[in-house]
Amino acid sequence: MKETVLSGIRSTGHLHLGNYFGALRNFIKMQYEHRCLFFVADLHSLTTHPKPADFHGNVHRVLTEYLAAGLDPEHATLFVQSDIPEITELYVLLNMITYKGELERTTSFKDKVRKQEDNVNAGLLTYPVLMAADILIHRPAKVPVGKDQEQHLEITRTLARRFNRLYEADVFPEPAAFNFGAELVKIPGLDGSGKMGKSEGNGIFLSDDEKTIHKKVMHAVTDSGPTAPNGEMPDTIRNIFTLLEVVSTPDVVTHFREAYNNCTIRYGELKKQLAEDICKITLPIRTRIEEIGADRDYLRKVTQQGAAQARESAQATMKEVRKAVGIQAF
Ligand code: ATP
Ligand code: MG
Repeated sequence: MKETVLSGIRSTGHLHLGNYFGALRNFIKMQYEHRCLFFVADLHSLTTHPKPADFHGNVHRVLTEYLAAGLDPEHATLFVQSDIPEITELYVLLNMITYKGELERTTSFKDKVRKQEDNVNAGLLTYPVLMAADILIHRPAKVPVGKDQEQHLEITRTLARRFNRLYEADVFPEPAAFNFGAELVKIPGLDGSGKMGKSEGNGIFLSDDEKTIHKKVMHAVTDSGPTAPNGEMPDTIRNIFTLLEVVSTPDVVTHFREAYNNCTIRYGELKKQLAEDICKITLPIRTRIEEIGADRDYLRKVTQQGAAQARESAQATMKEVRKAVGIQAF
C-alpha cells in the first residue's frame, strides 16, 4: 500500500534554488510514488501580523510557485491550511493536553522570543501544537522534515501518544520522519556562506529574471585564483562548483575542474556559464509562474479540489477524535 506523506509549505518568501534542489525536487518525484499531501501553512504566518492583502498575496504566490515548479494537483493533494476548519478544531483540543513548560523549552520558541521580543503572542508559543494538528489531522505515516523541524515532529509524536493514552483510544499513529537520505543536496550561498536561505538573504529565486540572476552570480565571492596545480579549493570556490554540478552538464563541470586544477581558470567565465545554466533551468518555471499566477480560475479549481480531498481525510479523523474526547450530539 502507498504511504501517506504530508508536508507543510511556509507561506512567506519566494522559492530559491536551495528550496528547489533541496526538498522540492524530491517532493515532485515522491508525488508519483506515495499518497502525498502538501499544504500552504498560512495560519502559521499570522504570528507576525501580516496585512490582510499581504496574507492572501503570500498564499497566492507560494501556491503559484510550487505549481509552476512541478507539484501536480492531479497526483498530490494540494491545499491551503485555512480552508480546513478541522485543523483549528484539532488544534484547540491538542492545546488542552500540551503543557506550557514543554512549549517554552522548544528551540524555535526561544528563537522567536529573541527575534520578536515585542510580539511574544500565544500563537507563537503554541506554534508546535498547530503544527501537530496539521500533521495528525491526516494521520500520515511520514513527514519530511529538515533539521530545524525535528523537535516539532518529536512534539507531534508526544502529543499523539498522550492523546491515545489519556483518552484510551487508538486514534493517532506516530508519524515518522521521511528521510531523503543521500538524495538531499545542500545548496550553498554564493556569498561564502554555507547555505542558501531566505533568512540568509542570499537567495537566487525561481522568479528572478535573467538580469537579476546574472547580477547575483557575477557577485559571487571568489579569490585571486589557484596558485598551484591540483590545490585544495577554498569554500567560496567549492560553493560555485557545487551549484555548477547541480545545474550544468557533466562535461561543463569537468572542463572547469580541469581549468582549476591546471590554474588556467577564469572565474568570470565560470560565473557566466553558471548564470546561463541557472537561467536555462529556471526560465520555463518563471514562465509558468507568470501564467499560473494570472489564472485565478485555475488556482480556484486547484484549491477547491485540494480542500475537498483534505477535508474528507480531516473529517474522518475528527469523527474519531470527537468520539474519543466525549464530544457527542444529543
Ligand atoms: P528560512 O531562512 O526562513 O529558514 P529557508 O530558505 O531555509 O527559510 P525553508 O522554508 O526553511 O527555507 O525550507 C523549505 C525547504 O527547503 C526545507 O525542506 C529545507 O530543508 C529546504 N532548503 C532550504 N534551504 C536549502 C538549501 N540551501 N539547500 C537544500 N535545501 C534547502
Ligand atoms: Mg530553513
